[in-house]
Amino acid sequence: SPDAHHRSDAGKVETADGIPVQVSVNISVLSELDRLDPTTTAGVGLLRTEFLLSSPSDIFNEEEQFAAYRRILEWAQQKPVVIRLFDLGGDKAFPTIAGEHGSFLGLRGVRLLLSKPEILRVQARALLRAAAFGQLRIMLPMVTIPAEVDAAAAILKEEADLLSIGGKFHPVPPLGMMVEVPAAALMLETFYKADFFSFGTNDLGQYLVAAARDNPAVAGLHAEAPPAIYRLIAASLKGIDSMSRPVSICGDMASDPACLGSLLKCGLRHFSVTPSRLMAVKSAIRALNANAPQTAAD
Ligand code: PEP
Ligand code: MG
Repeated sequence: SPDAHHRSDAGKVETADGIPVQVSVNISVLSELDRLDPTTTAGVGLLRTEFLLSSPSDIFNEEEQFAAYRRILEWAQQKPVVIRLFDLGGDKAFPTIAGEHGSFLGLRGVRLLLSKPEILRVQARALLRAAAFGQLRIMLPMVTIPAEVDAAAAILKEEADLLSIGGKFHPVPPLGMMVEVPAAALMLETFYKADFFSFGTNDLGQYLVAAARDNPAVAGLHAEAPPAIYRLIAASLKGIDSMSRPVSICGDMASDPACLGSLLKCGLRHFSVTPSRLMAVKSAIRALNANAPQTAAD
């Protein structure tokens, strides 16, 4: 029946003007999965793995990481699950590992992982082993230049080859990147090695207005970022028009019904949102026109 189809594919919704849109969820704590039915989502658009760590030593605990990634992949019942490599540094530092807590412009995300590849290799093995349990996609945080994707891809390939020696073949899952550094967004079509892109508007916004996302003294400026963010996303999507790579947005703007109309007009068709906002986002999208004529406000 059309009803049953609607239920099993309820991660897809249509705008009022009939444009198909996917809605996935962002997960930071695995207990969020307990109250969530995977058939109401298009999958997991972002797992923030750094929030699964309860102590710095967990960074090297491959078995614990494997168990967590396997659990979320099994929960998703073959829907895609985007697991982001540790986004450490910045505001999410274990000072003993990152060394420079609080710096949003320093060694964070993929920069930190490439400078401490032993961290990346443990996480890569846990992910490659878990991949057999679902539709895993791996995502890199804080990418600035294509060489960072190339270097991370090479390490993943090495670990996959090592795991495959004398055992089961381990393919490398699709490897994508967060688009959360303005230079990367402007140059998106140069990231040939990235299999997919996801806009991280929380960081993109703070870097565009040069106002730290965690500093209340500049919260007013931070709140003024959206028009610049829309313009950058639209330009960025034009740049990759011919690249045919999946594109989504997983920043908090995607969970805000007030932003969805503009994000649709930028060309975005896949939103990954906070689980508690899933229903509100879907109903907002159903009421919006993706191709409405531009108004002066847009
Ligand atoms: C973002 O920056 O928009 C994002 C989704 O990542 P995080 O909030 O974890 O930095
Ligand atoms: Mg971010």
